[in-house]
Amino acid sequence: QCITHCPTGGLRERDDTMEVFSALADPDKITVVQVAPAVRTAWGEAFGMPREQATMERMAAALRRLGFDYVFDTNFTADLTIMEEGSEFLHRLKAGGLTRWPMFTSCCPGWVRFLKGQYPELVGQLSSAKSPQQMFGSVAKSWFAQTLGVAPEKICCVSIMPCVAKKAEAELPTMATQHGPDVDWVLTTREFVRMLRADQLDPKYLPEEPLDSPMGVATGAGVIFGATGGVMEAALRTAAYLLTGEDPAPDAFAQVRTGPGLREATYEVAGIPVRCAVVSGLGNARALMEQLKAGKVHYDFVEVMACPGGCVGGGGQPISCEDKELYGERGQRLYALDKSAPVRFSHENPQVQALYREYLGSPLSEKAEELLHTDHKGWLMPGEPR
Ligand code: SF4
Repeated sequence: QCITHCPTGGLRERDDTMEVFSALADPDKITVVQVAPAVRTAWGEAFGMPREQATMERMAAALRRLGFDYVFDTNFTADLTIMEEGSEFLHRLKAGGLTRWPMFTSCCPGWVRFLKGQYPELVGQLSSAKSPQQMFGSVAKSWFAQTLGVAPEKICCVSIMPCVAKKAEAELPTMATQHGPDVDWVLTTREFVRMLRADQLDPKYLPEEPLDSPMGVATGAGVIFGATGGVMEAALRTAAYLLTGEDPAPDAFAQVRTGPGLREATYEVAGIPVRCAVVSGLGNARALMEQLKAGKVHYDFVEVMACPGGCVGGGGQPISCEDKELYGERGQRLYALDKSAPVRFSHENPQVQALYREYLGSPLSEKAEELLHTDHKGWLMPGEPR
């Protein structure tokens, strides 16, 4: 199924809504849906709803009316990503493996593909942590299936993402276990809107409903993943706790919040200087990589998002009829949600703690490595060295 936007039909956008409608109609499937942080800032634009009205809770009501059995939040696995990626960063830092090159974040498939194609010699610097989308699918088909007492194969995992690159990420051979792919179908925010219209649902008139547990519980650190700088800020909050045993002020690392350009900051964490850089937009990423390769700049931890402003400005979000860039406004909404969240540290997410207690053991454990990490060299771009 393709939707054509290009006047000559040369460019096509894949539409998976019919496949998801089929899964919802299949009585043998348990349908589990996750919603990425950036989607909640934008889905209501298509219905003329103010951001305060187009909440995640109203979206949960709409998803249940479409027929999903469980409505969860990708923010849950954003918190889990922080536990794994933050622990990996500290492990690399202490092992002295960051003397020449920084560790790169790996949650944006557009950036991962760009690095593999353009700077393949640096692929080993990517964090091995899967993205929150993929971690979600992996946990849904293992821990959650076990909690329900059903075979993992019965679970159909659907994602609603601000992103078109997430469709390709979910299809990578490295994003699967013996139970099949982590994520079965990826819908963009625009496809979700199309499904509501197809079912003649007007979300303005729906009530707000709570998300399901356990994977609907998330923190303010998880929600800011949708804006550029958010992954870095959330990781620093937890890295500081892991190094000192005490929570820093939640806004201690706000300097890395940024628009599309480069933002640099050096933080002293437990006596260790951590040199950070955040950038979004691939033109900016290329400029940063060239500076790094020339030895003109030195960092320990670098966050890159392919879309300007991060996922809030993603390619699967609603397109403004006035041709306005909305990533700034949408990003502000995420920071407001973080500010008002009762818990603002990923390591304090009670359901993430339960997942480690009941199933994974600890961050970077053997089970966590098996389910939550990947080998970025497990698939190769043409010309990429092994
Ligand atoms: Fe997808 Fe863009 Fe977000 Fe990267 S920054 S994950 S390409 S929406």
